[in-house]
Amino acid sequence: MENGWTGPQFSLPSSEDPAPRLDAAGWLSEDAATRLFASAGADFASLKKSADIPGFKPVALDAKLSVSFRSGIESASSENVVGMLPGSERPDEAVFYTAHWDHLGKDESLTGDQIYNGAIDNATGVAAMMEIAEALKQQPNRRSVVFAAVTLEESGLLGSRYLVGHLPFAADKVVADINIDILALSGPSRSVTSIGYGQSDMDDYLMAAAKEQSRTVVPDDKPEKGFFFRSDHINFARVGIPALYASSGMDLVDGGEAAGRKAADDYTSNRYHKPSDNYDPNWDFRGAVQDMDLLLAIGRRLANESTFPQWKAGADFARPAPAQSRTSAP
Ligand SMILES: [Zn+2]
Repeated sequence: MENGWTGPQFSLPSSEDPAPRLDAAGWLSEDAATRLFASAGADFASLKKSADIPGFKPVALDAKLSVSFRSGIESASSENVVGMLPGSERPDEAVFYTAHWDHLGKDESLTGDQIYNGAIDNATGVAAMMEIAEALKQQPNRRSVVFAAVTLEESGLLGSRYLVGHLPFAADKVVADINIDILALSGPSRSVTSIGYGQSDMDDYLMAAAKEQSRTVVPDDKPEKGFFFRSDHINFARVGIPALYASSGMDLVDGGEAAGRKAADDYTSNRYHKPSDNYDPNWDFRGAVQDMDLLLAIGRRLANESTFPQWKAGADFARPAPAQSRTSAP
């Protein structure tokens, strides 16, 4: 398995992330895991199944690993770039937009193109966020709006984790996070996908804005891939701030579901996390503009009302308690 986790790996310093570190961490394929478990007298498939049930307790595997690494540890820094439009009436409350600016750097073991430009993932998201900032600047908003181009998303969502650990607002005053990670460039679509659908009122905001565009909101059709847990908004959710992670739906105006799925599969197989994620003059920006209008409308609404979107009953997260009640709690 050598399509990731090669070259430098990043982590936050222990002052930011005090969770204990493993002596060694890595990946193995499902086949290799099955063989390893079998050689230790355990059944991978049945243990995996029981691990899906709440209350599962880890089982010690009767196996030992001998491993040696030649690696060095270096300390380096990278920047989150954050801008803000102060609110005109409720400046201590903030709506966040996030889009990661990093990608995977350079792989010198490759022949030919070694540079991961990350044009779609996620220069498109950063460009969209800047356009939305420009649009929101045209008239005052009651609440503050923060635009955070975060670093090291591709290395474990570290930039957004740091940002949430050092929020420039009280967490209970952060209204929501709208995360933009990859815009679709295959034309306008009749649907919008809400990744992590059903968690919070952000779906209702999305549905209202989508309706204005005569579009429907559909849940993510691959929830087992855990995409809701794989981009920067999850760090907001972890501290209880409702987050929206929407992407253009598959139902394209030109060609319907079949065309949408074909374009998505083509991107996943040929460009996603590859040096070929480059700018292409054939991009069709109409769908991207449609999605930017949608995310702008949601941010503008949130920035000009006084309510806070909540998590749905049974969601995996809960809103942070207001700062005062935290100190007066028994
Ligand atoms: Zn990304």
